[in-house]
Amino acid sequence: MGCLQVSQKKSSHKPNSDIFAIMLLLDGKIASAAVKKDLLQQTQLIIQSGKRAPHLAAILVGNNGASETYVASKVKNCEEVGVTSTLVRFDSDVAETTLLEAIASLNADPGIDGILVQLPLPKQISEQKVIEAIDPRKDVDGFHPSSAGKLVQGLPTFIPATPYGIMLMLEHFNIETKGKHAVVIGRSNIVGRPMSILLSSNLKRGNCTVTICHSHTPNLKDICLQADILVAALGKPEFVKVDMVKDGAIIIDVGITRVDDPTAKKGFRIKGDVSFSEVSPKASAITPVPGGVGLMTIAGLLKNTLQAYKTNLKI
Ligand code: NAD
Repeated sequence: MGCLQVSQKKSSHKPNSDIFAIMLLLDGKIASAAVKKDLLQQTQLIIQSGKRAPHLAAILVGNNGASETYVASKVKNCEEVGVTSTLVRFDSDVAETTLLEAIASLNADPGIDGILVQLPLPKQISEQKVIEAIDPRKDVDGFHPSSAGKLVQGLPTFIPATPYGIMLMLEHFNIETKGKHAVVIGRSNIVGRPMSILLSSNLKRGNCTVTICHSHTPNLKDICLQADILVAALGKPEFVKVDMVKDGAIIIDVGITRVDDPTAKKGFRIKGDVSFSEVSPKASAITPVPGGVGLMTIAGLLKNTLQAYKTNLKI
């Protein structure tokens, strides 16, 4: 297992030891590389056996900078693991019916195994309609109500890529979860809620007691202080400060926010939901941003795509 251990001098925030704490950096580059290596081996064997490569269709509407970056990265990662990808682009003023027709056509295409629509979508388009238009057998983002329902009932399904990626990360770094108290901040359908379901499920990296928090949760700080595992998925840069974190907690930072910074080359910096510099000396393990959960999200998507392919080709 390729885990990087970082020794850090204890900060003044740490009351219980005067020498060094070992903090495990949950490095998404290392964990996602391991997942991708395994996927590449599988696709190579499939292709050597004379079958076609798995095929993912990604739909991108408009030219939102962050969405462009995410989709470009998904396409590049597909290539790296032997998955064919097709990018279908629409202008931001596309009609909802046009988009739904494109999804119907991809649903009907036996050569397409997985379909994703990059969110968010422009206002004239109902995201819910679009999510529900995707054939659940090709729902590699795991957002369809059918996939979500199966997840709740513990049935095999596509797990939304970000929570799936986090579970893969916990597995890669052999993080014990059983019996722990996990606190998830955020209850979205794509991150917080499925994450809370997975962590509470009877899975190897589940069996936690889970508290799910949201924008109406009073005493958030007190709840976070009880967390053995804290998942921050609220989209507020550096919201989680050192005084919200228990000694030795495992910190999973899902947040990705572009914060303006004229000194940065691109004019912005990517910030997580956790103040890494403050919190990392107190944590036993922590994901960096960037380079943490984001990379695992892609790994989760690729795994779902291969699964969709195998189901489609009945192999
Ligand atoms: P969302 O806006 O849909 O949901 C945010 C959730 O946080 C809501 O449930 C809300 O109730 C809660 N929340 C907001 N403010 C809060 C507060 N002050 N206290 C407690 N709860 C609060 O966001 P999302 O789609 O779940 O994404 C969350 C973050 O994760 C964003 O920064 C997003 O960019 C990032 N994200 C990252 C990845 C990745 O691959 N790393 C994937 C998806 C989303």
